[in-house]
Amino acid sequence: MGIKIQVELCTGCGSCHSICPYGGIKLVNDKAQLTSECSACGLCVEECPTKAILLIREGSVKQVDISKYKGVWVIGEHYSNNIEGVVYELVEKGRELADKLNVDLTVVLLGSQLDDELEEFGQYGVDVVIYIMSPVLENYYSELYVKILTNLIKKNKPEIVLMGATPIGRDFAPRISKRLNTGLTADCTGLDIDSECKNLLQTRPTFGGNIMATIKTPHSRPQMSTVRPGIFKPTKKMGRKVRIRKFYYNFNQKDLITKILKIIKKERKIRNLSDADIIVAGGRGVGSKENFIILEELAEVLNAEVAGSRVAVELNWINSDRQVGQTGKIVSPKLYIACGISGASQHIVGIQCSDIIVAINKDPNAPIFEIAHYGIVGDLHRVIPELIKEIKRIKSKEEIPN
Ligand SMILES: Cc1cc2nc3c(=O)[nH]c(=O)nc-3n(C[C@H](O)[C@H](O)[C@H](O)COP(=O)(O)OP(=O)(O)OC[C@H]3O[C@@H](n4cnc5c(N)ncnc54)[C@H](O)[C@@H]3O)c2cc1C
Repeated sequence: MGIKIQVELCTGCGSCHSICPYGGIKLVNDKAQLTSECSACGLCVEECPTKAILLIREGSVKQVDISKYKGVWVIGEHYSNNIEGVVYELVEKGRELADKLNVDLTVVLLGSQLDDELEEFGQYGVDVVIYIMSPVLENYYSELYVKILTNLIKKNKPEIVLMGATPIGRDFAPRISKRLNTGLTADCTGLDIDSECKNLLQTRPTFGGNIMATIKTPHSRPQMSTVRPGIFKPTKKMGRKVRIRKFYYNFNQKDLITKILKIIKKERKIRNLSDADIIVAGGRGVGSKENFIILEELAEVLNAEVAGSRVAVELNWINSDRQVGQTGKIVSPKLYIACGISGASQHIVGIQCSDIIVAINKDPNAPIFEIAHYGIVGDLHRVIPELIKEIKRIKSKEEIPN
């Protein structure tokens, strides 16, 4: 892919030079000229009033009749036939998008024993479930997902396809989008419909999380996005009668390139942060790795998970998979207790869906208090032991169930 300037059409207006964020174009003798910094992003092409700039793509790109594409699809992911929480989260957003477009919301599942789960999707607002059933599909097979889903999408032409930004979603989504010759916006944190052109607006952090970019795919279909788990909250709605389209496939294991020999389950003493009901998180104010023990004690009595700010991760006080925020996990627990965390915007992004936020900070002016539902101004090393004592006392009197 590259940029070509048709010098004879260039009027030297400079609009391409002004819009280019990379310094990839300059004016020489009142004519646009490319520099070595050009990244062929194509911004100048749309900006040029005389159409003097062309984006040259390798090979021919087929023009897509976007009017033929209709409907919102969510690709369901499961682990040994247990549907993952992110699927219901995507259904929640998918329903909203489908309503704005006045189209059906469809969930696509590839599995072996999912029959009992299908009707329940009606309670989450799903219109149609496409269920591809085969004993082989009890577990995730990359090549089968890619093959089946590519064919289904080609045949049914949905305009939007959503998948979880999970290890599985991240594996099959780009491979499918390549086969369909369409774009894929990975790791979205927000989705909406453009009220004018009805395109999908896909928002995601970019440039290392420093800015949020909203991406449109106006010329190709379907519009594909992977979405981070924990962003949307599923809610049960008025029950709908789901239309179930079930297909049985008799895949022959010996025809597959890969074969699953053994599934080794990782011991999971600690839950995924995205699934936790209560999180106790620490920041720089905790003071040291050793001091994190006090947070673990609080987590223990609350049956909670321990997490941290990016600073706590950078200082090696806590593992990186426990980081909450823009470049960490987006969480939505019932209770989030922030200890010694100042409340930087990049941290807040990750916790704002929590039902209740409690902040413990010795600085009364810390920004975290602006979003906390309850604030305790004080030294966490004094506050947390008192909290633990009180929770234990209440528990021993059995005033609250464990
Ligand atoms: C591109 C980008 C992405 C980022 N992504 C993330 C992200 O995903 N997650 C994230 O968390 N950050 C992220 N950050 C970093 C973020 O900007 C902040 O620097 C970080 O969140 C601050 O961490 P903190 O609150 O632990 O530390 P600080 O801001 O230093 O705050 C420490 C707080 O502890 C309080 N304190 C100190 N001692 C005590 C005590 N004894 N008792 C009680 N309170 C005490 C202080 O009053 C202070 O408010 C990102 C930054 C950038 C630029």
